Amino acid sequence: MSNTEQTLSIIKPDAVERNLDNEIKQMFIKNGFNIFKEKKIQIEKSEAEKFYKVHETKPFYNDLCSYLSSGPIIAMILEKENAVAENRKLMGATNPKDAEEGTIRKKYGISIDKNSVHGSDSIENAKIEIDFFFKD
Ligand code: UDP
Ligand code: MG
Repeated sequence: MSNTEQTLSIIKPDAVERNLDNEIKQMFIKNGFNIFKEKKIQIEKSEAEKFYKVHETKPFYNDLCSYLSSGPIIAMILEKENAVAENRKLMGATNPKDAEEGTIRKKYGISIDKNSVHGSDSIENAKIEIDFFFKD
């Protein structure tokens, strides 16, 4: 039985700014993901605050929201079997210094804050995050 899932991925401003979006999309495709929908947008800081509300008590929250709204991003719905977990694996650890060889963050991440990609961390959050960007 097929277990195709959807997850939300974001190519963050540091990667879009360095024109890495096509290379990163190719990594998703090579690893068996289908890019079901995508949009390039720049969000307001207030929207970033809503998106990252789960982190509102963290010391990095304000900088994180400023950063995510600082330039264009590419939001994508990725599809694959076990897409949520598979995308987390392909992204690598939050801090690129800790990310394994072959992961997106190891290859492209600059620092813990400029780590090039976002990925949903659970099926439930994937649904919420997909709605956030793609519900019209
Ligand atoms: N972040 C940061 N400093 C930290 C931890 C996280 O700037 O000490 C940023 C980082 O860009 C990360 C985002 O906040 O991607 C969300 O944090 P989370 O723990 O959810 O990491 P992720 O799910 O993105 O791996
Ligand atoms: Mg997270």
